[in-house]
Amino acid sequence: MSTAAQAPWIPPRPKPELLATDSALVAEYCSWFVNRRAYTRQSDRPNPDNNRYYYYQPKERATKTRLALNEGTVRLHLSGAQTIGLYAINPETQRSKWVAIDADYTRAHRDLAALKLELKEDGVEAALEMSRRGAHLWILCDEPLPAKTCRVYIYNLALRLGVPIKGTLNQVDGIEIFPRQDELREGEFGNAIRGPLGIHRANMHRYWFEDAAPNFQAQFAYLRQMKRLTAEELETFTEGLSIPEEFQSRPRVEQPVSFLGNGKGFQILEHVRVKRKSSGNWWTRCPSCEKQGHDKSGDNLAISVADPRFYKCWAGCSKEMIREALGFPIRQR
Ligand SMILES: [Zn+2]
Repeated sequence: MSTAAQAPWIPPRPKPELLATDSALVAEYCSWFVNRRAYTRQSDRPNPDNNRYYYYQPKERATKTRLALNEGTVRLHLSGAQTIGLYAINPETQRSKWVAIDADYTRAHRDLAALKLELKEDGVEAALEMSRRGAHLWILCDEPLPAKTCRVYIYNLALRLGVPIKGTLNQVDGIEIFPRQDELREGEFGNAIRGPLGIHRANMHRYWFEDAAPNFQAQFAYLRQMKRLTAEELETFTEGLSIPEEFQSRPRVEQPVSFLGNGKGFQILEHVRVKRKSSGNWWTRCPSCEKQGHDKSGDNLAISVADPRFYKCWAGCSKEMIREALGFPIRQR
C-alpha cells in the first residue's frame, strides 16, 4: 500500500546556479561573510504548529556534536540546496567582518533607505537585500571590527534619523543591529542572520542585492567593488559616542507571565526558565539534553508562545524524554 497520498508537499528544489568548479566564489563569500565556523540552518519543512521555517544549529545525528561551517556548507547555501544563518561575532576577537541591519515591519523599507542614505553621507556604502518580510542592509568591513563599536555607530545613526530600534524604549517594531551583542561570553553564539544570496525555504525565492543584476556574476562583482568600512572611519564616527544603558545589555529576556492553562495537567512553563523569545517561541535549555550533558548553548527547546502545550527539542529528544528529565513522566496507560 502506498502512503504517497499523505506525504506533505515539498517545494521543488531550485536548479543549482553554481557550478562545482566555482570554488573561487565560495572562498570569496567566506572571506566576506564568515566570522566563525559555526552556523544555523533553516529547516526544509515548516513547523506543523505554526507553518514557520525555523533556524536551528545542525548537529551530527549520531554524536549530536555541532556541525562546523566549511566551504561545502557555503556551496550548498549558494546553490540553494540548503539555507544557512551566519553568526556576526568571532568569539576569539569579539569582532565582525560585517554589520547587518534587519528590518521587517511596515515602515522597514523607508527606514532602511533613510539609513542607507545617511551612511552614504558618511562615505559608507551599504548593500540592500530584500527578505521575506522586509529587508537587510549590509555593510562590509575592511578588516574585522569590534562588535561593540559597530553597534555604537549604527545605534547613533538610527537615533539621529528617528529610526526605531527594536527592544529600546519598549519598541516592538524597529531595526535589529547585527552583531546583536557587544561581546560574547564563553560558549555563546549570539544571533545569526540569513546568509546573503541564499534562498528562503518557505517560498524558495532567492533574494538578490538590489543594486546589481540578479545573477551570481553581477552580484559578486558588486560586492567585490563595494567600499569597505575601515577601522579609522569607524573610530572617527563613534568618537565620544556610546549606547544608553538599556541598549548595552543583551536583549532582555521577557518571561512568560500567562499562558493558556486551566490549572490542570502538565505545564512545561512551570518547570523551565526561558532564555529568550523569538519567532513565536520561548527558547530554553532542553532538560533531557542537559541530563545527557548536551545543549551547552542552552537553547535546544522551543516552546510555542501561543500554545505552550506544544514544545520541541531541536536535538531530537522526544516528549517522553523531556517529561522524564523534568521528573514528570508521561503516565503510561
Ligand atoms: Zn533535547
